[in-house]
Amino acid sequence: DNAQPKKPDWIRVKAPVSDGYKQTHKIMREHNLVTVCEEAGCPNAGECWSQGHATMMIMGDICTRGCTFCNIATGRPDTLDVFEPGRVADAVQKLGLNHVVVTSVDRDDLKDGGADHFAQTIRAIRHRSPGTTIEILTPDFLKCDSSVLETIVEAKPDVFNHNLETVPGLYPEVRPGARYFHSLRLLQRVKELDPTMFTKSGIMVGLGEDKQAVHQVMDDMRAADIDFLTIGQYLQPTPKHHAVDRFVHPDEFASYEKAAYGKGFLMVSATPLTRSSYHAGDDFSRLRAA
Ligand code: SF4
Ligand code: SF4
Repeated sequence: DNAQPKKPDWIRVKAPVSDGYKQTHKIMREHNLVTVCEEAGCPNAGECWSQGHATMMIMGDICTRGCTFCNIATGRPDTLDVFEPGRVADAVQKLGLNHVVVTSVDRDDLKDGGADHFAQTIRAIRHRSPGTTIEILTPDFLKCDSSVLETIVEAKPDVFNHNLETVPGLYPEVRPGARYFHSLRLLQRVKELDPTMFTKSGIMVGLGEDKQAVHQVMDDMRAADIDFLTIGQYLQPTPKHHAVDRFVHPDEFASYEKAAYGKGFLMVSATPLTRSSYHAGDDFSRLRAA
């Protein structure tokens, strides 16, 4: 039976109606940019966009992978748009962002997985907005030579984020095409290449994992020197996607957060509505001020 657990009260979110929201929407459309906020139907869009925070998704809106939790279309992607890094940089400047998160679809069709496009986007933003901190949320570059990581690290993003998404036992079902230890190793390698760069990762809960496995993932992340952690509730984008196993209570999130700080993460966000890019900038400036 496909019956889904009922959405609890703590999941409901406000509708996007503010002027700030409309302004962000306008800038995204004018620059012909794709946002993960829209593509993923993120429940925080009302709040984030009101404050001008949008996560831009580069290299198109068609992905070569088909993760079963994800609402992005799978198929053959378009050719890369060489003007996109400039448009992203322009939008970041117009939005006046202190911190920007840039992500992408997976591009298994490209030899470098899109690493150079990421590097160019980072450089373009840096050039136009030198005071803006840049966070990238990358695919796993599973089919690429490991030198592609150097290409990105050399462009010096402030935060290198790559999500593990779920516990290893659920990979075949939730993240087919990816490998848990490859993703961990990727982040560890970023830290080896540049120990001053912050690394970040996250998982969703409510996919069918147990608590023990969540703690194990945190330990694995710390063993790979990962600095920041996000944990949020999985929400099913459409009935065709992976079912919600359960809605994790806010108290359980709070216990994950406490445990994570105990394990040595520098920054942790673990709440039902936490997303990889949720309040990323606030957290980062708090850390810098500390
Ligand atoms: Fe966009 Fe991230 Fe905010 Fe969701 S949490 S609306 S994806 S910036
Ligand atoms: Fe979605 Fe990323 Fe998986 Fe592609 S690789 S299907 S964008 S989660």
